[in-house]
Amino acid sequence: MAKKESVQCSFCGRDKAETNVLIAGLDAHICDRCIEQAHEIVLEEASELGLNEKSNLNFDIKKPKEIKAFLDQYMIGQEATKKAMSVAVYNHYKRLMQETNDDNDVEIEKSNIILVGETGTGKTLIARTIARMLSVPFAIVDATVLTQAGYVGEDVETILTRLLQAADYDVAKAEMGVVFIDEIDKIARKGDNPSITRDVSGEGVQQALLKLLEGTVVNVPPKGGRKHPEQKFVEVNTKDILFIAGGAFSGIEKAITKRLNMQAVGYNALKSGEAIDKENILQYIIPKDLREFGLIPEIIGRLPVLSYMNPLDAKTLRAILTEPKNAITKQYKKLFEIDDIELIFTDEALDFIVDKAVAYKLGARGLRSLCESILTDAMFEMPSSDTKKLEITKEYASRKLSRTTLKKLKAAS
Ligand code: ADP
Repeated sequence: MAKKESVQCSFCGRDKAETNVLIAGLDAHICDRCIEQAHEIVLEEASELGLNEKSNLNFDIKKPKEIKAFLDQYMIGQEATKKAMSVAVYNHYKRLMQETNDDNDVEIEKSNIILVGETGTGKTLIARTIARMLSVPFAIVDATVLTQAGYVGEDVETILTRLLQAADYDVAKAEMGVVFIDEIDKIARKGDNPSITRDVSGEGVQQALLKLLEGTVVNVPPKGGRKHPEQKFVEVNTKDILFIAGGAFSGIEKAITKRLNMQAVGYNALKSGEAIDKENILQYIIPKDLREFGLIPEIIGRLPVLSYMNPLDAKTLRAILTEPKNAITKQYKKLFEIDDIELIFTDEALDFIVDKAVAYKLGARGLRSLCESILTDAMFEMPSSDTKKLEITKEYASRKLSRTTLKKLKAAS
């Protein structure tokens, strides 16, 4: 009797029994491992040749109004910033198209963005939403951990490591990503006199960031990643990466007010009859104020789109609770719905939650913690009970939010 012929992978020689899948071709076989490896090689080659980049560039670029309409679904208010962002993003991608399409000598510069506003006013949210709309990798980095090369802390290149990780190590994709640099105000130069205070963590980091913002090829330590296990560095070009920086710049209002007052008695007085809105001084911010705060002029120049976030009043908080596409109350309703439980919030209960967020200065971030505290007991008990409806009234909410809970939330915020 003829011996059954054994089948092997024609690439690595593994026997069929040693593989998970062995696919037969005309006169060869390939195993699952070799397919994976081959796929990675194809991706890497394509990325080196810029093939992915070109195909990505054909994605459908939305007009500024469409971009804003997308942002509107996720974000309440902040009209000025949504508008500025929509235009900046549109121009950024126009610039990318120009690079590939023509040899025009007018070069459109990058439109990196800087957002000024208190914490919890939606700076991260808007950056994240833009990245979601563009379907590009998105990374958030905290400027406070960055230090000048050679000092304890993270070098600025690690910003790109994060982006690479978010892009699953696809360099071409990472090179078109969005990076949100949080707390940019924390690397401001301390003190007014640059010659006396040459602080390492401030000006040095700003200098290091400059090149990244402008566009340069950086050697990035990939830190793991199965595509580059042994590689020490991956080259990433930052010229098409959109940087969005954000910071609270607490105290900057004083400088703005001072400038406005000086203008009021000087030649550039605000138009007559135009009163200064003291509740929202940030709306008058200009690049010069950032300079006063301690950002070096070069950095300000590389972040040409400057916008501000409005403080969140009770009306906005109320809307944040219920209106965005993935509003907090909608998320809890969904969680209960999975257990076939109908969750209802009365209007009074919602007003009560907002009142507490305002009174305890918990901001938008506090809304979630408040809801969590109110609903924890129900989320624990109800999946094992037969009750299929839960109405959150003001009384229910206030019972669950004892003083101690509120104090704890305040301490944690
Ligand atoms: P920041 O980056 O300014 O500190 P975040 O973007 O992290 O603030 O916002 C904190 C929380 O508040 C997030 O859960 C976000 O979804 C919510 N939030 C803040 N502002 C808005 C807004 N205008 N519309 C909808 N949600 C908001």
